[in-house]
Amino acid sequence: MALIVHKYGGTSMGSTDRIRNVAKRVAKWARAGHQMVVVPSAMSGETNRLLGLAKELSPASSSPSLMREMDMIAATGEQVSVGLLAIALQAEGLEAVSYTGWQVPVATDSSYTKARIESIDDAKVRADLSAGKVVVIAGFQGVDEDNNITTLGRGGSDTSAVAIAAAMKADECLIYTDVDGVYTTDPRIVPEARRLHTISFEEMLEMASLGSKILQIRSVEFAGKYRVPLRVLSSFTNWDIDINEEAKSGTLITFEEDEKMEQAVVSGIAFNRDEAKVTLLGVPDKPGIAFQILGPVADANIDVDVIIQNVSQDGKTDFSFTVHRNDYQRAMELLEKTVGPAVQAAKVQGDTRICKVSIVGIGMRSHVGVASKMFRSLSEEGINIQMITTSEIKTSVVIDEKYMELAVRALHRAFDLDQDAA
Ligand code: ADP
Ligand code: ASP
Ligand code: MG
Repeated sequence: MALIVHKYGGTSMGSTDRIRNVAKRVAKWARAGHQMVVVPSAMSGETNRLLGLAKELSPASSSPSLMREMDMIAATGEQVSVGLLAIALQAEGLEAVSYTGWQVPVATDSSYTKARIESIDDAKVRADLSAGKVVVIAGFQGVDEDNNITTLGRGGSDTSAVAIAAAMKADECLIYTDVDGVYTTDPRIVPEARRLHTISFEEMLEMASLGSKILQIRSVEFAGKYRVPLRVLSSFTNWDIDINEEAKSGTLITFEEDEKMEQAVVSGIAFNRDEAKVTLLGVPDKPGIAFQILGPVADANIDVDVIIQNVSQDGKTDFSFTVHRNDYQRAMELLEKTVGPAVQAAKVQGDTRICKVSIVGIGMRSHVGVASKMFRSLSEEGINIQMITTSEIKTSVVIDEKYMELAVRALHRAFDLDQDAA
C-alpha cells in the first residue's frame, strides 16, 4: 500500500463527464490498495471567468488594496471542484471528503495572488486516510496567519499537490494533465515535439522558470527540495487502463544526473510571452548606475529578469531590462517619474511586444558552440536578437514576439529535437 497524490488540471476537470472519469481513475487506484489524496484545479476557464468578473467591477483589480478580494474570488473555483469530485467519488462507492486550503490548513504567507506555502498540517488528512477515505484538497489556495484566503499564482495547483506530497512524504505525486507528459517543447506550437520519458529535475526547473507552463515553477522547487517522486501524465487515457502501465506512463522527473549523460545536448525549448522590455536611453556610464536604476525597481517589488547595458559612447550608455507584463505599467511609471530623472536619462522607452526563447539542457555544460548554433539558426531565419542571457544549462534570447513560433520551430529542428530525428 502506498500513499499517492494525484493532481488534475482544469481541462481534466472541465465537465461533469470528465470529473466522473477522474473519480473512476482515482477509484481504480484506491481499490488497488493505495491511500489517495487528490488535488484538483478549478474547471477550465473558471479562474479566468472569476477574475474577469472582478475586473468588470474595477479595472484597478490588480491594485494592491484589491488583491485580498481577488484571492477570495479566485479560490472559489477550486472549492467547487473539490465538492464535485468528492460527490463523484462517493457515487463510485468510495468514502471521500473535500477540504479547502484553509480547512487543512495549508498555511501561506500573505502575498496575495502569489503566496508561498509555509507549512501544511496533515493531521486531519492522515486521520481520514486511516479511516479509509479518499481526501480531496483544493489546489491553488491557502490561508495566512490572519485567516485571509490566499492563492499561489496561476497554475498553482501543481504546487499545492507537490507540497502536500512533500509534507505527507507521499510515495509519488502524479500530475495528470491534457498532454501525456513533458515534451521537447509545447506540442501546441511544434507538432513534431517529442515526449521525454524522463527529464532531470534541473532541466525541468529551467523549463518551468523559462516559461513552460506545464508545471508551475514552485512545484518543481518543492519536488527538488523534498525529493518528491514526480510524474506528469495524461488524464485523457481510458480511466481503466492497467494501473501498472499507467504508473509507468508520461514523464518522470529524475534526480539522478548520470541517467542523462548520454542524452542530447539540448533537451528542450521554452518560450515566454509574459515579459516586457524597458529601456533608459543615454544614462551616464559610471559606477553605481545599475544599482541606482534597479534598486528602486526592487524596492517597488518588481522582479527583473534579463538585463543588458550597452557599451558607452561619450560617457553615456543605454540600459534595458525585462519585467513581467503585469508589472510593466508600474515599471514604466517608476522610470518615467522617478528613476529616469534621478539618473538623468535622456529618454525612457518600453516595448511589450517581445518574447523570450530559451534552449535548455544539462548536456550544454560539457559542449561548446551550443549558443553560437542557436544564434546562427536564428540569423538564418532573419530574426534579430535584442538581448541574451546564459547560464550553465540554458541560453535565452529576447526577440520580437512576432517571430516566436518561427524561432521555436527553427531551434527545435536545429537541435535535432523533431520526432523524426529521434
Ligand atoms: P493543467 O490545466 O492540467 O494544469 P496546463 O495548461 O497548465 O494544464 O499545462 C499543460 C499544457 O502545457 C499543455 O496543454 C501544453 O500546451 C503546455 N506545455 C507547454 N510546454 C510544454 C512542454 N514542454 N511539454 C508539454 N506541454 C507543454
Ligand atoms: N485554477 C488556477 C489557475 O487557473 C490554478 C491551476 O489551475 O493550477 O491558474
Ligand atoms: Mg497547469
